[in-house]
Amino acid sequence: MLRHRFPAMQMDIGFEVPAEGVTVLFGPSGSGKSTIINATAGLLRPDACRIEVGGTVLADTRAGLWLPPERRRVGLVFQDSRLFPHMSVATNLRFGMRRVAPGPIGFDEVVDLLGIGALLQRRPHTLSGGERQRVGIGRALLAQPHLLLMDEPLASLDAARKTEILPFLTRLKTALKLPIVYVTHALDEVMRLADSLVLIEAGQVVGYGPAPEVAARADMPLAQRDDAGAVLPCRVESHDPGRALTRLVDGGVAFLVPLLDLPVGAACRVRIPAREVILAGRPPEAISLHNIVPGTVRRIVADPGRRSVIVEIALPGGGLLSRVTPDAIARLALSPGAPVLALIKSTSIEVLGG
Ligand code: ADP
Ligand code: MG
Repeated sequence: MLRHRFPAMQMDIGFEVPAEGVTVLFGPSGSGKSTIINATAGLLRPDACRIEVGGTVLADTRAGLWLPPERRRVGLVFQDSRLFPHMSVATNLRFGMRRVAPGPIGFDEVVDLLGIGALLQRRPHTLSGGERQRVGIGRALLAQPHLLLMDEPLASLDAARKTEILPFLTRLKTALKLPIVYVTHALDEVMRLADSLVLIEAGQVVGYGPAPEVAARADMPLAQRDDAGAVLPCRVESHDPGRALTRLVDGGVAFLVPLLDLPVGAACRVRIPAREVILAGRPPEAISLHNIVPGTVRRIVADPGRRSVIVEIALPGGGLLSRVTPDAIARLALSPGAPVLALIKSTSIEVLGG
């Protein structure tokens, strides 16, 4: 819980997510995301708040409790990594280890996870933006935090650097059992990294929960975007090199996608854009399509701005979104509870790592 009055905005925030995995705070610039990060780190003291992480209360203004930043065991990574320019990468990293007892996160492990072994003797100004951010993350981790806070860590990077650093973040979140709160206003980062998702607008929480659920809710704000779509955690079930296809499973549903370079059993996630999902009442014949997924209509929400509707489809293991015209709804006589087939081209399914 966090309440704070800025001259231009009243913040009134409350959410609860599992203290594991990555919680993404997603919202437009000025919505209050950094305020939440700064209050959690102890850098900003709101009018009222209660912040608890994994059973430890960091702040409870009603009880008069306010832990100073250095006692919160919280690691911070900002957009600008703020490395010491006169120190080598190795010395910058070791700076994070001062004043803390050795913990579960080792120097070599961090160097390896972040792929910065070849940079150790370099000075920060000789590094690319993406490399600097990786070193900044390493320094934060070596202080043995119990929680890692990342405030738009990729916002200053160009698309290529971002693509380079995202796989490291995905590895980090699986290798280290460390809860991460990650702020962004970029949807691609949400789709790749979020386990839990908190949507923030103008100082208020407008939706929160497990990321696949929040992304696939037709009545939550993400569904009203052009790039709306479902994200589903999957596992590689089998490869068919002869047909150049890979079969992924998610709970009870299977998806065929173009052949992947991942081992059988590997976890991945898929993103299925709403505008790529066609609806049908019965299976079409003689069609190039690989994925005909049976589901049930859960919600139909109008999007008058685009003269379309968003249909939320319940699947055994999650949900899908489909953007269609009101005419399609009428022709198929769709309403909540109706069975429906979701038709998805294998090439429309985006496979994201881990
Ligand atoms: P975000 O990180 O989502 O971009 P912030 O948490 O930085 O948003 O800020 C939320 C809002 O709080 C801003 O729109 C601004 O109106 C207000 N705000 C933030 N910091 C200050 C400040 N130091 N003084 C006055 N208003 C502030
Ligand atoms: Mg901010």
